Amino acid sequence: MKNVFLRIIDGELPCDKVFENERILAFKDIAPAAPVHILIIPKKSIPNIVSVGKEDAALLGEMILVANQLAHEFHIQDGFRLLTNNGKNAGQIIDHLHLHLIGGKQLGPIA
Ligand code: 5GP
Repeated sequence: MKNVFLRIIDGELPCDKVFENERILAFKDIAPAAPVHILIIPKKSIPNIVSVGKEDAALLGEMILVANQLAHEFHIQDGFRLLTNNGKNAGQIIDHLHLHLIGGKQLGPIA
């Protein structure tokens, strides 16, 4: 069965989109942890970081460039966190690679 993010990519579920190109989609997290909480995902089906290959290097780089662009657009360039949860022990609940772009308030410790 398709996971939630694949369904969003395919237009089967709505999202609050903030960026899209042929390879990448970014949208607001449904349960934001901070005033700005955006998820940046590849359209390619990749479960998480341990699943990426050398062929994905450019895609991952582009995802970080999108994060940079969005950090400026949402005026959090002076302080934000960019993170990805990999696997159950890290709290990954959706098995589709995603970067969390989090900011807009003073952030606490990571773990
Ligand atoms: P994870 O814990 O897997 O790194 O993070 C998954 C994130 O996806 C969570 O922050 C959660 O709030 C968000 N999320 C789960 N379902 C949906 C959804 O249907 N729409 C949006 N926009 N975010 C979602």
